[in-house]
Amino acid sequence: MNYLIYFFLFLLGLSAGSFLNVVLFRYQPGASLFDLKKIGGRSRCPHCGQILSWRELIPLFSFFWQKGKCRHCQQKISWQYPLVEFLNGFIFLAVPIYLSFLYKIQGWQFFLSENRWFYGLILIWLLIFLIWILIAFIDKRYYLIPPELNWGIFILGSIIVLIQFFHQLPFPFQFSFLRHYALVFNFTSNIFFIHLIGALIGGLFFGLIYLLSQARAMGFGDVKLAFVSGWLFGWPDFGLALVLSFIIGGVWSLILIFLKKKSFKDKLPFAPFLILGMLLTFFLGYQILGFYFNLLSV
Ligand SMILES: [Zn+2]
Repeated sequence: MNYLIYFFLFLLGLSAGSFLNVVLFRYQPGASLFDLKKIGGRSRCPHCGQILSWRELIPLFSFFWQKGKCRHCQQKISWQYPLVEFLNGFIFLAVPIYLSFLYKIQGWQFFLSENRWFYGLILIWLLIFLIWILIAFIDKRYYLIPPELNWGIFILGSIIVLIQFFHQLPFPFQFSFLRHYALVFNFTSNIFFIHLIGALIGGLFFGLIYLLSQARAMGFGDVKLAFVSGWLFGWPDFGLALVLSFIIGGVWSLILIFLKKKSFKDKLPFAPFLILGMLLTFFLGYQILGFYFNLLSV
């Protein structure tokens, strides 16, 4: 029974990925992200304009079946299509499995009323991951973050804070992906303060970089993203996400500079790194800190 549900979740993720691809490829900077006139309408090949049939629109399969080329004009199809589809399939499987492990909820008893908060939490985290994918790919391409996506994170983060407040799990598991390591770094056990501190640290830290670099190192969209992400994750989880994002961003820039694809003066979109840092904290924060403390104790 569970396997059927996982298979269904994976298919649901692939479809969500197709939808995100449509939103991503029809997005124009400055326009609304969910402009129905743009999102609606038949899918066409961006090169030859040919309207695509359903056989050319099956997530993942069409891309590999057609060997990454349009069937009409033989132009290459962007690797972003299968990547976004696969990422969504993976996320729709991994998020529910990971959260059921984290909160020790077994099986899929949808009608168990005491677990309703948990299914709500899964839904909210899936929406957050969808927003993360949109932000990462839009920032990578256009160097901007649509404000409605930051608002989305803020609202979903607030719902998570409320679920944590009303559904009391034993401290510190109720609020932290770092589990007992959170106790080493946190200042308070009040859920609202935990998230407020995260938001303030994120906003102030990125705000400072924004001001000191005179908006060269970061845009104001990054500052807002750091604020709402700090609110979503709370302290100390957001602290780990920040550290990881700067390590990944730093290493990646050095690789690009070494390969002579970028110079020190070039701008690099930061949101993809912050999102990668948050993704790692979400799934592996506890293991990463465990590894770090093991190194220290040797
Ligand atoms: Zn074509």
